[in-house]
Amino acid sequence: MKTNPKFKFISWGGGLQSTCMAVMSALGDLPKVDAVINSDPGFESQENYKSIAWYLAWLNRHGLHTEVIYPENNIKLDFINNHIHIPVWTQTGAPLTRQCTQHYKLIPTKRRYREIAGYHPVNPPHPYPGEFEIWIGFTLDEHERRSKSRKKYMVNRWPLIELGMTRDHCIDYLQSHGLPIPPKSACVICPYRRAKDWIYIRDHCPGDWKQAVLIDKQVRHARPLANVTSDSVYLYRGLVPLDQANLEADAAAYEARQKGAAHQIIICDGGSCWT
Ligand code: SF4
Repeated sequence: MKTNPKFKFISWGGGLQSTCMAVMSALGDLPKVDAVINSDPGFESQENYKSIAWYLAWLNRHGLHTEVIYPENNIKLDFINNHIHIPVWTQTGAPLTRQCTQHYKLIPTKRRYREIAGYHPVNPPHPYPGEFEIWIGFTLDEHERRSKSRKKYMVNRWPLIELGMTRDHCIDYLQSHGLPIPPKSACVICPYRRAKDWIYIRDHCPGDWKQAVLIDKQVRHARPLANVTSDSVYLYRGLVPLDQANLEADAAAYEARQKGAAHQIIICDGGSCWT
């Protein structure tokens, strides 16, 4: 679709790629966007929060309107109390349908884009088709994550892919400007984490790991999770309690399977997590 966007927004996950894209926009290596928006689901790692706070200040200082917004609820509590599903693994080996990305990321950011553009967050009149261009920080090595926006007035765009950039290019870019490398951005309890990512949380973020282990236990037989037919659910895709998983062996096995293939850690296409 040919578009004539009046507003350009960056969906800022807070991780390497979307941060790199925002820095490129601030430094003139990409066109300047109207705003950079991060939506905080309430339970990212302390490391992520530090990085997001640092870049929030840096981007605003460099002339890019950048915000963190806070959806009313908190993913840590909602999953248990309010039945908003994160993709926990069921005994069939499949994850629950993911509701969290919509609830904590896509809907709040869409509303904020509308407000910034002068619209009511929900009510008509709506922006014209293609009025908002949403930049998503996927790189060439994860191009299969691209998907179209469900809203006619929002057109997704992937500038890093257009530039042929990979994750490594983003690292090089930030380092060449003397900027810190953001950690992977995702909720601590995100079930899309692979063994290697859980090892990282366990070894580098002990407080977050403790909470994840506790939440994993709490959800095990969480019948209050609406429509869950599985007797037990797990944060870890190996279908064992997180603190009993042999993460090192699983990580090595995954690595062996992936030889020659790109490291694909997630299956989330929302564009606002893991970017
Ligand atoms: S990072 Fe994972 S748990 Fe958090 S909103 Fe995204 S998909 Fe859901």
